[in-house]
Amino acid sequence: MTVAFETRESPNHDARPAGGRVDILLLHYTGMRTAEAALERLCDRTAKVSCHWVVDEDGRIVRLVPEARRAWHAGVACWAGARDINARSVGIEIVNPGHEFGYRDFPDVQIAAVIALCADILSRHPIPAYRVLGHSDVAPDRKTDPGERFPWRRLHAAGIGHWVEPAPVTSGPALGPSLGPGDAGDAVAALRHNLSAYGYGLAPGEAYDGETETVVAAFQRHFRPALVDGVADPSTRETLARLRAALPTG
Ligand SMILES: [Zn+2]
Repeated sequence: MTVAFETRESPNHDARPAGGRVDILLLHYTGMRTAEAALERLCDRTAKVSCHWVVDEDGRIVRLVPEARRAWHAGVACWAGARDINARSVGIEIVNPGHEFGYRDFPDVQIAAVIALCADILSRHPIPAYRVLGHSDVAPDRKTDPGERFPWRRLHAAGIGHWVEPAPVTSGPALGPSLGPGDAGDAVAALRHNLSAYGYGLAPGEAYDGETETVVAAFQRHFRPALVDGVADPSTRETLARLRAALPTG
């Protein structure tokens, strides 16, 4: 480890499956009123939740669970066809009250600590850039963290995560139609395919159903945060296309 940290022990972990490897870095916000309340819950045996790391708003880093162990942070989740996300991930909880208790910008000193911690983790595990994810990416129907204020662009500028500059949020006939709830057909099928091919848990289909809307909102929260509305406007679809084109091949 190259970053300084404190240790507090959570009892909420178990063994990673034998032979598995860590190939996802999953970022959360705590979504509680204070850092201390979050730390207490993450260390409460009866709560049965935990994560490996917590980063406070002042940049303080606390380790709750050794990375060799499986921490319990993802819950029911799916990415690229895999469901036991805890088994294959390192989880970081980033202190922020979240959408429920007063979502606010992440302070610079906190993001600097997150970047340093992520860089350290990525130096120790074979995690590709495109598998540095938010909780809402892997559980779009249940979770909205770390949310649209989380500066994925800045992390990417520091060498962490996958990101392309989002296409501007503009509309007009020349840019093509928006797709939204109630729409159906080949264009919706292509959208669903493209989201699923990127990793989102979305089955094939031709209908823009509630599940599609939820996954589009999760995509926007991470990759096109200027507008999170669950509508696949031209900017959303272009940003998704750019991201997929920027993936390593092979
Ligand atoms: Zn979370």
